[in-house]
Amino acid sequence: MSVKEKFLDYIRFDTQSDETTRVTPSTEKQKDLGRHLVENMKQIGIEDAFMDEWGYVYGTVPANCERKNTIGFIAHMDTSPDFSGKDVKARIIENYDGTDIVLNEELGIVTAVKDFPNLLQHVGKTLIVTDGTTLLGADDKAGIAEIMQAVNDLLHSDIPHGKIRIAFTPDEEVGGGTAKFDVEGFGCDFAYTVDGGDLGELEYENFNGASAKVTVTGRNVHPGSAKDKMINASKIAMEFDSLLPQREVPENTEGYEGFAHLLAFNGEVEHAELIYLIRDHDKAKLDARKDKFLLAADFLNRKYGRELVKAEVRDGYLNMKEMILPHMQIIDIAKEAMKKNGVEPKIVPIRGGTDGAALSFMGLPCPNMCTGGDNMHGKHEFAVLESMETIVEIIKSIAEIAE
Ligand SMILES: [Zn+2]
Repeated sequence: MSVKEKFLDYIRFDTQSDETTRVTPSTEKQKDLGRHLVENMKQIGIEDAFMDEWGYVYGTVPANCERKNTIGFIAHMDTSPDFSGKDVKARIIENYDGTDIVLNEELGIVTAVKDFPNLLQHVGKTLIVTDGTTLLGADDKAGIAEIMQAVNDLLHSDIPHGKIRIAFTPDEEVGGGTAKFDVEGFGCDFAYTVDGGDLGELEYENFNGASAKVTVTGRNVHPGSAKDKMINASKIAMEFDSLLPQREVPENTEGYEGFAHLLAFNGEVEHAELIYLIRDHDKAKLDARKDKFLLAADFLNRKYGRELVKAEVRDGYLNMKEMILPHMQIIDIAKEAMKKNGVEPKIVPIRGGTDGAALSFMGLPCPNMCTGGDNMHGKHEFAVLESMETIVEIIKSIAEIAE
């Protein structure tokens, strides 16, 4: 089977994860793909392939020559809870001509070039798209297919390489992808998550993440007799938000610019609640952003002369950069492997988290690389077949180059 056939095979499995179930895996159906992958791995000669009780799949490609390091490749099996991944009907567009893509004539769903100018980079290529009723699942089944194809090729060639371990994990999309990851059992000196976007992307910096919950306690009185008595929690919640840096929000920032994102607002007169995500690549700047929440709450409590506003800030994930910097050869190997296959590496900071960050802090340095997928988590998701084929070669080159 080719990487294309593998990919089309894996996206038949509905592996949507669920952030509400609080178990691992968050949805039992992810194990159906896990079992299928174990079978596939055994078929191509990965004898020790297995799935553990939490749905993590592991396997080994033995070394065929002496090498210092054991390297790992990791991809996730689940798809985003944001959009359905059931009954994915993929369509292949050969020699893409750069025009709008009608995903679904009947439902009038179109991927328009004016909305997604990134399409124009792929003129002449083979695109894999959806029928507009589901996501595609290139995030991250493209990564799984690429790893599977690469290890298949390595097992049936005489390309010299050291010991390689592969892992397919559940629940990345709901922040649980590393909860039960067996770093010790995996036994790698370093690894790569194959879970990025456009061909050439290589990432070893991600946001530091925190969150804030702001609660406002008001006092409801009949509006006709409310003078000097009513305290409108919703109005104070709006005032709270106005005290935060107004330009530093996701819709106005890019690159290394951090933000506070108002994720949810629930309010009436008696009570209001605001939920924020706070993000910055720089830890000191993140801490300063967190302080602003406490300062704004304090300011309003003083202004109104009572404790109306409570801001609770919680830390989330950390930027993996500090864990990768002492091991920059991991990045150099990936860069060299890309160049060897005619791809210019693009090192970009991730504006989010990644499983590799958590793994890096668990002792497994783990940058992230491209899959060839784009427009993830929705109906406009697509994958570029030629990119996927090149990434298979890049993975093989990493195995060959790594000492
Ligand atoms: Zn992903």
